[in-house]
Amino acid sequence: MAVNGATAIPPVSELVTTACKAFKDKYGRDPTTAACGPGRVNLIGEHTDYNEGFVFPMALPQVTVMVGSKGDGDLCRVLTTAEGVDEPKYVEFSIKDNKPGTPKWANYVKGVVANYVGTPSGFDAVVVSSVPLGGGVSSSASIEVATYTFLDALNGGADNVLKKDKALACQKAEHEYAGMPCGIMDQFISMMGEDGHALLIDCRSVESTLVPMKDPNVVVLVTNSNVKHELTGSEYPTRRKQCETAASLLGKRSLREATDKDLEDSKDKLDNVTYRRARHVIGEIKRTEEAANCLQNGDYVKFGKLMVASHDALRDDYEVSCPELDRLVEAAMEVEGVYGSRMTGGGFGGCTVTLVKKDSVEKAIQHIQSRYDKKASFYVCAPSAGAKILSV
Ligand code: ADP
Repeated sequence: MAVNGATAIPPVSELVTTACKAFKDKYGRDPTTAACGPGRVNLIGEHTDYNEGFVFPMALPQVTVMVGSKGDGDLCRVLTTAEGVDEPKYVEFSIKDNKPGTPKWANYVKGVVANYVGTPSGFDAVVVSSVPLGGGVSSSASIEVATYTFLDALNGGADNVLKKDKALACQKAEHEYAGMPCGIMDQFISMMGEDGHALLIDCRSVESTLVPMKDPNVVVLVTNSNVKHELTGSEYPTRRKQCETAASLLGKRSLREATDKDLEDSKDKLDNVTYRRARHVIGEIKRTEEAANCLQNGDYVKFGKLMVASHDALRDDYEVSCPELDRLVEAAMEVEGVYGSRMTGGGFGGCTVTLVKKDSVEKAIQHIQSRYDKKASFYVCAPSAGAKILSV
């Protein structure tokens, strides 16, 4: 829907047209095959994945599209039209000698080719995306999942491998080729999302459940703060370590196994920081399960309260928010018709996610921008489909 103040999201067909044209310009023929993978926003369940907890994302209408055809033997040739990636935007590599390197953006594609379940042939391809890069809505998972699905379409391997295993192959690509030890959320939702549904993922059992989210009177507003604080880079590993320490001091395999009572009973064994890290994770796992139930029952008021509690804990206990994200959430909560708002993604910048009555979304955008001294970007997003093979 067109909303004043929100960035228009191009339909997938428009991206395919752009990609087909770029393909013809580059390779001198028409592509035979197209596929896409969406970005995602996490509604609730932050920093719970590596603690074997729950996460609750939905797929976005913004997608990465890959179009192409079979190429020359083992040779893979890929062009991206994305702004803001490292140069050059065109790479060639061989399937037989496929190692990570530069440009860095190509490692996401190379990693998926290396981890593809089956024997891919060489290909020529163009990548076009409407997912903002580096904004915390997982452009990286979307290019991985688009690549995997494109290879399926090209090699006829779509049916015999579970979506879950395809997502795990993409996660492995990110670990091995992009050097990012991410959890399973981003690739799972991009591969398995469905129109009108959020996905509750249990990161312990690696099972996921679709939860309907179809109320036409409620929308999800994603607000990009357009800031990314460059910290020392050790924040993520430090948080992971603190969680492991807390779990082991509580005598648990992971914080998923711990209750509020376990934590309170062992409070004396933990230093204050470790205690607060664990308090966020244990609380957040509970909040996420509860939130999925609330959505199922249409209880948006409670859902919104859980979002705000999540933000508060991320700010105060987990200490991964920043003044810009706090300001965006605070401003959103001043608007009548907003149920809840929170930072989403790893933190220290990136996006917030807000659940708001459809009739109030324009007012919310205006108000949030008026209270924010930088330029924010706004996206009104419906829960969208996961990876798809498309026609060219
Ligand atoms: P995000 O939250 O968007 O996933 P990351 O920093 O983890 O942020 O990943 C962004 C990186 O993924 C980009 O810098 C680029 O290397 C790669 N990437 C994402 N989308 C594309 C694209 N369409 N074309 C080329 N590279 C892409």
